[in-house]
Amino acid sequence: MEDLYRGIIDSHFHTQSMLEKGMDVFSVYDRLFQCGFAGGIDIGCVHDDLPERKRLLGKYDRILLAGAMGPWEAGRSETKPVEPEYEFQSVKSAEQIRQELEILAGNLKECKARFLGEIGLDYYWDYGTHEKQHLIFETQMHLADKEGLCVLIHDRDADEDVIEVIKCMGPSKGGVIHCFDGCGALMETALERGYFISFAGNLTYRNNGYLRDMLKKVPADRLLLETDSPYLSPVPLRGKPNSPEYIIHTYRCAAEVLGLGLEALKERVLKNYNTLCKR
Ligand SMILES: [Zn+2]
Repeated sequence: MEDLYRGIIDSHFHTQSMLEKGMDVFSVYDRLFQCGFAGGIDIGCVHDDLPERKRLLGKYDRILLAGAMGPWEAGRSETKPVEPEYEFQSVKSAEQIRQELEILAGNLKECKARFLGEIGLDYYWDYGTHEKQHLIFETQMHLADKEGLCVLIHDRDADEDVIEVIKCMGPSKGGVIHCFDGCGALMETALERGYFISFAGNLTYRNNGYLRDMLKKVPADRLLLETDSPYLSPVPLRGKPNSPEYIIHTYRCAAEVLGLGLEALKERVLKNYNTLCKR
């Protein structure tokens, strides 16, 4: 395992969600770091989770913190059946959303979060209403610009609207389109606005030839890889809870698609990750 993980990064994972699934995530991190793992970004899920995540992860200086209010915090869908296991069972008022955005803004400063994410739009589950999702998304795009933070974008079935927001609202430091699964126009706009494109474990799924084709279109200096742990485990672990150590399968798949050696790909992705972190 020693050399395999040297210089590997995971640009997007959720420690708290892994802990909720009963995973022994700190042993995984300790083992990975002993093997030269170069780190990654622990992603926020809800507006008030930053202080606890900072406490949990403070000892890992190579795990950087992102905090945000995701589209799921728009509250229970007012137009579609609710996502199974969805934690916000009530409809949220715009007033409550505004108050939670204030709490988030305070936490970002206090915990010195390095990134604002994940934020975005999810029309697949249609949390709250589109209007409420836009309120959450756009308020944070403004905030990122004001605070000089990169954003990490979640987009599910909402390419057109995400493109509009990215076009109009920057932010100036750009960011990452996480778990890329969008159209060519989204990739084009994101690249123009200085974003990185990050691919997750679904790159390895047999039916996702489209994603592998899109991967080939990403300029060498804009590519990132991620697990989105505990979700989206790559083949051959599909269906199991995902963990940052499984990112090796996504690296191998991407290297094959790009016709690169594993070491060359590690070097490329690490360089891009370091560029993102320095912005
Ligand atoms: Zn995520």
